[in-house]
Amino acid sequence: MKVCVIGAGIVGMSSASYLLRDGHEVVLIDRDEPGEGCSKGNAGALSPGSCIPLSSPDVLRNVPKWLFDPGGPLHIRPAYFLRAIPWLARFVAAGRAHRIDALADALRSLNRNTFENYAPLVANAGCADLIRNTGSLVVFKTERGFDGSKREWDIRGARQVRQQRLDARALSDLVPNLSPEYRHGILLPDHGYVADPHRLTNVLAETFVRDGGKIMRSAVSRIEPLAGGITRLHTDGATIDAEKVVLAAGAWSARLLAPLGVSVPLETQRGYHIMVANANQMPSLPVVSADAKVYATPMEHGLRFAGTVEFAGLEAAPDYRRADALVPLAKDMFPGLEIDTVTRWMGHRPCLPDSLPIIGTAPRHPSLVLAFGHGHHGMTGASTTGRIVADIIAGRPSGVDLTPYRAERF
Ligand SMILES: Cc1cc2nc3c(=O)[nH]c(=O)nc-3n(C[C@H](O)[C@H](O)[C@H](O)COP(=O)(O)OP(=O)(O)OC[C@H]3O[C@@H](n4cnc5c(N)ncnc54)[C@H](O)[C@@H]3O)c2cc1C
Repeated sequence: MKVCVIGAGIVGMSSASYLLRDGHEVVLIDRDEPGEGCSKGNAGALSPGSCIPLSSPDVLRNVPKWLFDPGGPLHIRPAYFLRAIPWLARFVAAGRAHRIDALADALRSLNRNTFENYAPLVANAGCADLIRNTGSLVVFKTERGFDGSKREWDIRGARQVRQQRLDARALSDLVPNLSPEYRHGILLPDHGYVADPHRLTNVLAETFVRDGGKIMRSAVSRIEPLAGGITRLHTDGATIDAEKVVLAAGAWSARLLAPLGVSVPLETQRGYHIMVANANQMPSLPVVSADAKVYATPMEHGLRFAGTVEFAGLEAAPDYRRADALVPLAKDMFPGLEIDTVTRWMGHRPCLPDSLPIIGTAPRHPSLVLAFGHGHHGMTGASTTGRIVADIIAGRPSGVDLTPYRAERF
């Protein structure tokens, strides 16, 4: 069967790789080189135990404080505020206590087998070294901060996520360079990370071509359903017909879907990173400051600090002051870290208000499979999403209840 995948981020790349393994003729289309979107500069954390929806009573309580802190983890550009309101209203609604359990179950189902589902892809591509099963660590300065995470601890615990409380001494044994101000920690031993997300997507892309897949560099401007179940893609240079199309265009997906009469509340939460190349201090595992909401990940080329959420839409230029604000936070976590120069990056997290992606057949368009909206956990969710997409197209049961991810929920 001929299948076109729109978007060569980690979600599209993983889907295309799994589809090729099923023997399909697969064409992967991206307006850019593979992996240049959000999948390029994320924190790389692979978090099978990630099951806390972003919208929750605790988060909502902190929002006003964060909004008035210029270096804080959340910023809404004044010019974008009115446009963000409908999405924010849905976000608040998703955080109601009675919805949390169902959302947490769905997140856990999608994320729990991230390592297992990357394994065949990276083994075939010869880059298993990029996937590190190190565990990850969440750190807190105060007892109060740690106690505030109790609800999250309970949600994870109820879903059999292994987690271990660490005291100040255990923390300094595990991450000797961490500031002694951090006195409490949670070790998640089944977590890990990708040591270079950009290289991972690139090596998967090279392997995809080696194994017979085709990559087209072109912007898709329209998806047109034709008679007989065929779908025509209009690109800037040509048209291409396929029996099945997978829409995995990250934060840009809703634009291609709207003309088909399918409206979904996809918003970009822009995030930033700074990279300290050849850092003089490297933790052995990803460390997350719970207070600052910043990830420190020991990448293969340096120490990456990533985080922050900015609402400013898809068009506005990056505001690198948001990245620069990560420098003092990095120093706060690792006081002995020498930071002379950093490289900075911004990416568009594709976010739906209930923290779940959309995975499944598009309403009224059975030839179109949707795979986008993975928000803060797309690196983690991509491998299982790729497998599910191949299962949907093959008509196989995926072993995951796909109801929570349907586009029709909006
Ligand atoms: C600061 C930051 C830190 C993060 N940390 C983590 C983390 O630690 N762990 C984790 O699991 N996740 C993390 N994420 C989230 C993760 O990066 C994303 O969820 C994931 O990369 C989304 O992948 P994607 O393939 O859906 O989108 P993308 O990587 O953005 O790919 C979409 C692709 O579609 C292409 N495209 C768009 N429109 C068109 C068109 N019309 N025609 C052709 N091509 C098109 C784009 O060029 C792009 O290549 C983080 C994100 C940020 C910003």
